[in-house]
Amino acid sequence: MKKKDIDYFKELLTKRLEELLNQAGDTVLEMNDSKGNFPDPTDRAAYEADRNFELRIRDREHKLIKKVKRALERIDEGSFGICEKCGDDISVARLKARPVTTLCIDCKTSEEAQEKALGL
Ligand SMILES: [Zn+2]
Repeated sequence: MKKKDIDYFKELLTKRLEELLNQAGDTVLEMNDSKGNFPDPTDRAAYEADRNFELRIRDREHKLIKKVKRALERIDEGSFGICEKCGDDISVARLKARPVTTLCIDCKTSEEAQEKALGL
């Protein structure tokens, strides 16, 4: 991959990571704010539902943060843009659409086909 592409992805991923970390911070604050007593069980149920929803989002954010960090590590290691499975280059177009991907389109397609065959 060209140096200018690497620079582009490094900047993109660094920004993405900052955004995600800011968002994660906001969610934690909101959750702390909304702690309290609920005399009405309906309020309590709504609160629990909100909370579960937030936890799911946070879990997803957390996973994405890990992926973005890993992608940045791969940039530093010089392995960014190389398929983890077959070692081929991942196309820049694919990386632009999904910068955290670690598989080329062929490996991703065959992995998905396998998962489908296994009923996952
Ligand atoms: Zn591959």
